[in-house]
Amino acid sequence: MSERSGPSPGEAMSEPELVSALAAPGEREVELSLRPRTLAEFIAQPRVREQLEVLLRSAQRRERPPDHILLSGPPGLGKTSLAMIVAAELGAAIRVTSGPAIERSGDLAAVLTALGPGDVLFIDEIHRIARPAEELLYSAMEDFRVDVVVGKGPGATAIPLDVEPFTLVGATTRSGLLTGPLRDRFGFVGHMDFYETAELEELLARSATILGVRIEPSASEEIAGRSRGTPRIANRLLRRVRDYAEVRADGLVTRDIAQAALSVYEVDQLGLDRLDRAVLQALVEKFGGGPVGLSTLAVAVGEERETVEEVAEPFLVRAGLLARTPRGRVATAAAWHHLGRTPPPGSATFQTGATTGRFGLASEPDLFTELE
Ligand code: ADP
Repeated sequence: MSERSGPSPGEAMSEPELVSALAAPGEREVELSLRPRTLAEFIAQPRVREQLEVLLRSAQRRERPPDHILLSGPPGLGKTSLAMIVAAELGAAIRVTSGPAIERSGDLAAVLTALGPGDVLFIDEIHRIARPAEELLYSAMEDFRVDVVVGKGPGATAIPLDVEPFTLVGATTRSGLLTGPLRDRFGFVGHMDFYETAELEELLARSATILGVRIEPSASEEIAGRSRGTPRIANRLLRRVRDYAEVRADGLVTRDIAQAALSVYEVDQLGLDRLDRAVLQALVEKFGGGPVGLSTLAVAVGEERETVEEVAEPFLVRAGLLARTPRGRVATAAAWHHLGRTPPPGSATFQTGATTGRFGLASEPDLFTELE
């Protein structure tokens, strides 16, 4: 497959990330066939599912579009899928756009005034919407009306336009960046959590059936455990393991095949890839576990500062392997153990992720805020 054509030497570390939660170019199309179409097909997230079910059913009884819905959580956990399910469950049409695509209020006015009655408008990365457009959104969400300003300076006039009653579904990976007024206009906020390994096993079984992949339960368990609690990564690893099983064996995915494939793709037992491990190794082997500044650490692994901070660190922090402290980055005891080494006395311990196998967002500080 073209995705496997080897990286050129210069991009050795930055080849398309097998364990990135972000969709690679073209991946969204591949994902289409795997997207759940109904709430019942949507695996796990029982809290959000139940809440949405009640919201949708009661709106249908009242024959009114439901309240606006905000879905927050890290990438790859199913926010877009849920937006599509909301529309499908309501039997409504869905229009899809994103915060960065709406640069001017005119862009948004065009989208809003083209909506039909009861339509669902999905705005991904809604925290990145331009401020003037955001203000236009307030009146559209509240009163189904927008004021479009025509002309400039003293001669400018506001022309009020009606918008059909609609439901906005906003998705954000950074709910902390949402302004208060925008957040207040959502009647429902759903927080998505990382998935448990058992839930990802269920997801993999479903995906394997859709893709026609023969997989043993022990192999699903192996892949699920390395998927960083994220459905998008689980599905991607499944596709790569399937390729390997087809080329190197008879297509049946056993635990041995899954392990062999994932070691070829350099995804380890915790779901760490080459860059993640390089960061931990540098921290432990070159800097005695830290603390060390981000820039120094980046130079040590031959990467850009941003790559280390945005690509590697969020998961390492979440897995309890690395801590960001005011004095710099520190390897935790779990990181030393993961590299097969004995931590020095007094090294940091964290009861999250790698140490407990459970990834939770609620008890942690906002993982998506930069600390430096
Ligand atoms: P997000 O919008 O949060 O980045 P997506 O909705 O695009 O995430 O989900 C990424 C992929 O993961 C989708 O293709 C979908 O197949 C799969 N997926 C996510 N959540 C679930 C789920 N709960 N059940 C089944 N598949 C899921």
